[in-house]
Amino acid sequence: MPATATISARGARRWHGGHPWVFRSDIVQPPDSPPGAVAVRDQQGRSLGFALWSPASEISLRLLDSDPDARINARWWEARIAHAIARRKPIGESANAYRLVHGEGDGLPSLVVDRFDKWIVVQLLSAGLEAFRAEITDAIRSLTGAEGILARNDASVRTREGLSRLVEPLWGDVPHEVEVTEHGVRYLAAPHTGQKTGAFLDQRENRVLIGSVAKGSALDVFSYHGSFALHLARAATDVTAVDSSAEALERAAVNVALNGFKNVSFVQADAFEFLRERVKAGARYGTIVVDPPAFAKNKASLEGAIRGYKDVNLHAMRLLEPGGMLYTASCSYHVSKALFLEMLQEAAASAGRRMVLRAITAQPLDHPEVITIPETGYLKGALLEAAD
Ligand code: SAH
Repeated sequence: MPATATISARGARRWHGGHPWVFRSDIVQPPDSPPGAVAVRDQQGRSLGFALWSPASEISLRLLDSDPDARINARWWEARIAHAIARRKPIGESANAYRLVHGEGDGLPSLVVDRFDKWIVVQLLSAGLEAFRAEITDAIRSLTGAEGILARNDASVRTREGLSRLVEPLWGDVPHEVEVTEHGVRYLAAPHTGQKTGAFLDQRENRVLIGSVAKGSALDVFSYHGSFALHLARAATDVTAVDSSAEALERAAVNVALNGFKNVSFVQADAFEFLRERVKAGARYGTIVVDPPAFAKNKASLEGAIRGYKDVNLHAMRLLEPGGMLYTASCSYHVSKALFLEMLQEAAASAGRRMVLRAITAQPLDHPEVITIPETGYLKGALLEAAD
């Protein structure tokens, strides 16, 4: 029998409300055990199920299973991961790079598993989860037939769990570059060194969305490895990919060449300055993508972040020709959907453009945002048309 944690009524209420975390302040009696799976009960002694236990973290418990008879063993992990993978089946028809497990969104708290063709990148983001490294690795191997599994355990949240930050193989070898396909375009993912686990998988469908309406001269602002640019290049007359990182743009150029596109050029620049300069020069574009990094890293930086989002969006709006299309996104968890739309409203007002909302985008199938767990959601976007 695993050790038992006793939690407060407030902690139990969170679980009943559909949220898997119990904070340190709601632990009445911690389990007498190292990190791993523990049984949980309330102060009346009623069983609440099983959770991952992280002694050093503010998030002490993460609910795994509310069934008091559950057994958190290799079979349990395999069944949960298999369920998450099965949900993604439709994606596999048009892409071979996507997320297999999105942590709490898939009932597998603090676990991220991404597929890049035949290779898998994993993030084990809590001390409790680390105790099941072997079970998780085995389950992924048998469920995917992967040729290699890499742990991108360099994420900063591991520090808060008392865990070291490192990149290490869990099984086999994962190449430094993996060529993947995404709705008819190809690009190189960088599992060992790229942002996140090697590519931004969460924008896959949004690239198709803006690609499907792209026209005229196009801009891909905050381009990174050029993933939006690749989809724009198929429909637009020409594409300019803008990023402040020369290294990112070099990779974008390789991806463009891989697809044989001849209509993409690259500009290394600060996006804020670039957009301003283009407005001053009287430039116009038929299609613009604005996909910035998370400007709001925390609540304190929210106000400045909104100013930043507004600035890039209002300049992008000014640059659209009549009938031009803008896809804009924010991946800041702290910028709510409501705040995002309010920011766009202000940007449109300041730009003096009549912007029509054509679509609001949420996270794709492989990054499930569970509405009772706000922390599973971070990405929101909008497709807008300049009506005048
Ligand atoms: N659109 C990309 C992801 C963008 S990530 C995709 O779909 O894959 C954000 C990118 O913004 C990074 O490549 C980073 O180098 C770039 N960046 C950050 N600050 C910037 C700035 N001020 N000006 C231009 N690029 C910037």
